[in-house]
This record gives sequence, structure tokens and C-alpha cells, in this order.
Amino acid sequence: MSAAAGQEIQADFEAACLTVRLSAITANYRTYRRMTGPAAVAAVVKGDAYGLGAARVAPALAAAGCDSFFVARLEEGVALRKTVPQARIFVMDGADPDSVPALLRFSLTPVLNSLAQIAAWSAAARVGRAPLDAVLHIDTGMNRLGLTGEELATLAGEQAKRLAGLNPVLVMSHLACADEPENKMNAAQLSRFRQALAMLPTAPASLAASHGAMLGVDYHFDLVRPGVALYGANPQKPEGKADTAPSLMQTAAILTAKVLQVRRIDLGESVGYAATFRAKRPSMIATVALGYADGIPRTLSNKGAAAIAGVRVPIAGRVSMDLITLDVSDLAEPPHIGADAELLGDTIGLGEVAESAGTNEYEILTRLRRVPRRYEA
Ligand SMILES: *Cc1c(COP(=O)(O)O)cnc(C)c1O
Repeated sequence: MSAAAGQEIQADFEAACLTVRLSAITANYRTYRRMTGPAAVAAVVKGDAYGLGAARVAPALAAAGCDSFFVARLEEGVALRKTVPQARIFVMDGADPDSVPALLRFSLTPVLNSLAQIAAWSAAARVGRAPLDAVLHIDTGMNRLGLTGEELATLAGEQAKRLAGLNPVLVMSHLACADEPENKMNAAQLSRFRQALAMLPTAPASLAASHGAMLGVDYHFDLVRPGVALYGANPQKPEGKADTAPSLMQTAAILTAKVLQVRRIDLGESVGYAATFRAKRPSMIATVALGYADGIPRTLSNKGAAAIAGVRVPIAGRVSMDLITLDVSDLAEPPHIGADAELLGDTIGLGEVAESAGTNEYEILTRLRRVPRRYEA
């Protein structure tokens, strides 16, 4: 059997499906434009657009007017160049001597995170005898990536030499606690960022990602760079806490799985590995074709929920590698074999799934790797 025939057979029977609503992603992008204008909005599409597929998501965003994209890895930038040939692509890992040839070849702009990266990119500019665009990343307190205070002072003192051949198109930093509006670290980082800007050549500035943009106009500068909110996360929901406001974002990812079997069990019977669910009444159990190999966290065992025809039903027992068991006893009628159960979508929200699983929306989305994706315009 040819590989192509195998793919056809798979497409005919989709046990589970991740539906990506491109129109919701572009609507969320436009919402950011409205909320943060006149600042520009770049889209963060690292991690394969947070698991939703950068090859489809980025062109849709470009068609909606997005001309700048951020990725983490060099390889992500190289792949993205084919899908958005005209856009500015920023690579957050930056430039080291080994990545310079590919950065140049694919017209990728590195986010320079250290004096060493600045030196590598400046050297490339001297070799090519043409100015090269660059982003300067200042660490204002996250202590993860970016120029340290000491490096910033050195750079500021030796600008002409260190930035020779470079055209700084953006100075950026990143907030550590932007999902907590009351956290004092936000204002402290804002103040350090302003100090850094005053020390450097004038260039457009960017501080806020999805949550930071909700902290107010002071945080917008010239460019905001949302990621997770474009894909449907509520940017006003602090991690580990309940929603504080109804989400302004549209649901972009819908995960469904088919019911494979339905069975009646007696009071006292158990369900799944380690028999962690025990029926407190005669129960109906539906088994659906999705599991932790698809990226559903095992921590949803006996905790999470699904929805069948819009009605919520709890997960009963352990999440297995390829299967989840649902307690459908409260449905008016047991589901048909082949019925769709929603594990993530309009009824079972992304924030709720993240909370139940004990993680964040980013991890939920980026884990969904085995599930075939379907794109809705
Ligand atoms: C991931 C990332 C973003 C996007 O963050 P969201 O919280 O998904 O909006 C923006 N800037 C940097 C530096 C990042 O690493």
C-alpha cells in the first residue's frame, strides 16, 4: 500500500480531530489591533503556532494584515519564510555564528539577546557590507533571555562600535507577571524598560505579549506581540485563578473524539487503570478515542470533563494512552457509537481545561500533536 493510500484511509476515519478556526484567530488578531492601536500587532507563532499549525495560521494572519511574526527557533523561521514570503520574521533565539548563514539566506531578523550575539550579527553585517536589521532584547527582570543590566551599560557606552552595521528595528523586553495586573513587578519592569530605551538609539519599542497588552496603554509602546490570546486563551485570566472577565477572544481550537463504545456498569464496579473510578450508582460509561499520546494531560483523570451534544459529562477514571472514559449516566440517552465528544472548544473552554489539568493554556495547546487537524476558513 502506498503512503498516499494510507493517508486517504486515515482521512476517512478520524477518531479524533483538532478543528482550527482560522477566522477566530484572525478575529482575535483584529481585536488586538483595535485594543492596542496605534501600536502595531505582531503575531507570535512559535511552537508551530502553539500547536495549531504555523503553515496555515501564519498565511491567514498575513491575509488579515499581519506583517510581522515572532518564532523561537531558527528552524521555525526557515519554515515560516516559505509560508509568509513578504513578512518580517523575528527569531527569538537570536544569532550565533552558526545560525548567521541561515538567518541571512532566509531574511530572518534575529532578536539579539547578548553582547556576543550582537557581535556575531555585527560581524555578518561587516562581511556583507550592508546594514542588517536587528532586534535588541533587554532583560528587565525575568532573568531568562536578553541583555543583562551590565551588558546594557556596556552597549550604551560603546554604541557606535558595538552596533556597527546594525539597524535596530526594535528594542524589546518581556514581562514575567503580566497575567497578574496587581503584581508590582509589572511597573518595575516597565520602569526599567523605559530607562533602557533612554540609553539606546531611538527605535520602535515592544514590551507586551497577550496579557501585558491588557495592563494599559503604558505597556503598548510601538508593537505588541500576542501569542496565546490569538489562539483563544483569555488574556484577562491569571494563571491558576478563575476568569475575572468574560473573554474577548474567540475559541480557535476545538478538539473532538469519537465514542468507540458505551457500556452499562453496576454500582461498585470500577473503570480504567488502577480502578480509580468506582461507580456510586449503576452507570453508563462511554469510551472515546483520545488519550495522553494525543496530548491530553493524564492529570485530567477523574477531574476533567467533556461535552456530548453540548451537555457536560465528567471524565471517569484514568486517562489512558489512547482512550478516555466518560460517565454519561446523566445524559437523557446514551451517545451513539461514533458520536463526537468535545474535549476542548466552546463548551469545555481552554482556560477550564488548563485549570483542571493543573497547567496553563499554552501547554494544553502545544501538546496536541497526534491529533489530525482540520482547518475552517
Ligand atoms: C512567547 C512569547 C510571547 C508571546 O506570549 P503570549 O503570552 O503567548 O502572548 C511574546 N514575547 C516573547 C519574548 C515570548 O517568549
